[in-house]
Amino acid sequence: MKIGINGGGIGGLAAAISLGLAGHEVEVYEQASDYKRVGADINLTPNAVAALKSLGVFDDLQETAARPTHRISRTWDTGEETSRLEMANAAEEKYGAPQLTIHRADLLQALRRQLPEGVVKLGFRVDAIDLGGDKPSVRFANGETRTVDALVGADGIHSPTRTAMFGPEHPQFTGLVSYRAVVDRSKLNVPNLDAFTKWWGPTPDLQIVTFPLNRGRETFIFATTAQDDWRHESWTMEGDVEELRRAYAGFHPEARALLDACDSVTKSALYIREPLPQWSVGRTTLLGDACHPMVPFMAQGACMAIEDAVVLGRALRSVGEAGFAGAFKRYERARKERTAKVQIGSRGNEWLKQGGNADWVYGYSASDVPLEAA
Ligand SMILES: Cc1cc2nc3c(=O)[nH]c(=O)nc-3n(C[C@H](O)[C@H](O)[C@H](O)COP(=O)(O)OP(=O)(O)OC[C@H]3O[C@@H](n4cnc5c(N)ncnc54)[C@H](O)[C@@H]3O)c2cc1C
Repeated sequence: MKIGINGGGIGGLAAAISLGLAGHEVEVYEQASDYKRVGADINLTPNAVAALKSLGVFDDLQETAARPTHRISRTWDTGEETSRLEMANAAEEKYGAPQLTIHRADLLQALRRQLPEGVVKLGFRVDAIDLGGDKPSVRFANGETRTVDALVGADGIHSPTRTAMFGPEHPQFTGLVSYRAVVDRSKLNVPNLDAFTKWWGPTPDLQIVTFPLNRGRETFIFATTAQDDWRHESWTMEGDVEELRRAYAGFHPEARALLDACDSVTKSALYIREPLPQWSVGRTTLLGDACHPMVPFMAQGACMAIEDAVVLGRALRSVGEAGFAGAFKRYERARKERTAKVQIGSRGNEWLKQGGNADWVYGYSASDVPLEAA
């Protein structure tokens, strides 16, 4: 069957690999004219790395990814460690895959390398979607059109596919903005640079997350502040590093040293949506941020999109014309409860603050989770 995928981000590319492995002909429609090196980080926890392994991209990722040794929580003023979870080899033994931290562009490149030439159509901005006919059809801003046997909306938090299916409904601003920076490791003289560390602030709007990138040669730094008057979403818009440092003035010297090392930061508002009760209409379904966007406080947005992709491929294995509706129901059933729990958990922002068992998130296997009959 011919399946179209709107959006060539992490979820769309992973889905293209997974649906290809399931025996379908796939095309990915991406609005960008090229993949630029933006966005900096992605933290892939063992559940996502295991899913990527099943798609055949694990070896490629290892070229540039770092393997954090631990996942540590620290208190903002005293620096006290409130939890320390062993990752790397311990996670690999326990979950069958390690945690990997990688530049977003390197992950996208590894996914693209796994796809045959011509699958990803760059410069294909979805302009209109017609779900009224026998088969879904899409019109692009470049004047091209496609009619496909089934359509997957992997087009992010502002998904035009979701709007075509369920009508317009805007994401909600959380009141928080995120700052992100990558610094050379040699500029930092603080402990735990090989670990994923979260500094928990006195209030939920203040937190710093840091982890290694580029095989540990660089350090990624993420922080948030409450700012009701800033609503822009962007991977590239520059923020004011002094403004960020001021917000963290009372933090432990090792936390402040992280921000002091940043020459520049990008700044983006954080948005969410409520869990979506239904993901599919006829021969069209959704995946990733298009159906379950979340705040990044469990670092699971991309991980959930990758899991979706693997489960969707399994649900659509050997499915023909008549089978899409049932296959999409099986996919939805397998995924909805888990992704809603992670969406809500992310918003709660308590994940591994005081330790606890990470198995329900990290131990999930997208390759084995049961698919109920429709
Ligand atoms: C600050 C921050 C930090 C994060 N950190 C992590 C982390 O550590 N780990 C993690 O797992 N997740 C993280 N996430 C979440 C993660 O980035 C997203 O969940 C993930 O990118 C979702 O993938 P996706 O493919 O569903 O959507 P997207 O990555 O948004 O991709 C959607 C794609 O669709 C394309 N598109 C959109 N509209 C159209 C159109 N009209 N026509 C054609 N193409 C279109 C876009 O150009 C884009 O390429 C973070 C998010 C934020 C904001």
